[in-house]
Amino acid sequence: MKKIIPILFLFVLTACSTTKKIVDKPIIFNDERTELTLNYLKERYGLDQKEPTIVPKMIVLHWTAIPTFEKSFDAFHDSKLPNWRPDIENVSGLNVSAHFLVDRDGTIYRLLPETTMGRHVIGLNHCAIGVENVGGTSETPLTKEQLKSNIWLVKYLAEKYDIAYVIGHHEYTLFEGHELWLEKDKGYRTKKTDPGEEFMTKVRNATKEYKFKRLPKNSN
Ligand SMILES: [Zn+2]
Repeated sequence: MKKIIPILFLFVLTACSTTKKIVDKPIIFNDERTELTLNYLKERYGLDQKEPTIVPKMIVLHWTAIPTFEKSFDAFHDSKLPNWRPDIENVSGLNVSAHFLVDRDGTIYRLLPETTMGRHVIGLNHCAIGVENVGGTSETPLTKEQLKSNIWLVKYLAEKYDIAYVIGHHEYTLFEGHELWLEKDKGYRTKKTDPGEEFMTKVRNATKEYKFKRLPKNSN
């Protein structure tokens, strides 16, 4: 009996992976965005790279706090930070982005190649794949379909890359002092609440078999 379970489990995994699909809907990644990304890697992390690539070791889940897919997509589309984010504009002109954007109905859109750097989490962008979810406000709590798609995506990415951590954006400061944390400016932090404990607990319970590492303990 013990031998049958892993085989059955593998079969279920394979069956799941064929039922969802990813829709490619790339945001602008022109020379300007490449330049801004290379500059970000160098200035923030001390990484002098020729290409704006990452080695994925972590998945960070988010919500956009924007109620519609179109407006969420628009927030990431342009290369440069629009004026309405002056709180981080002085750090770098690179616009925020994420690799995936999950719509309210669970449709998964890929905005960036998985190994290109997106700007979605301070300190960890050099190794983190970002998954954004449309909504997250009190009027638009994340849906069951989004939860299912996030779980599917975590499994899909963990099969593909050497993913050690799956975290919620609200947990990112726990990595200060960790070997993966590269942000140089101690004053550059923003407080985050997305996507919340409840969502993360559900994702973690559904992906236990991947044995992701526990979050580091941080006294901050
Ligand atoms: Zn976030």
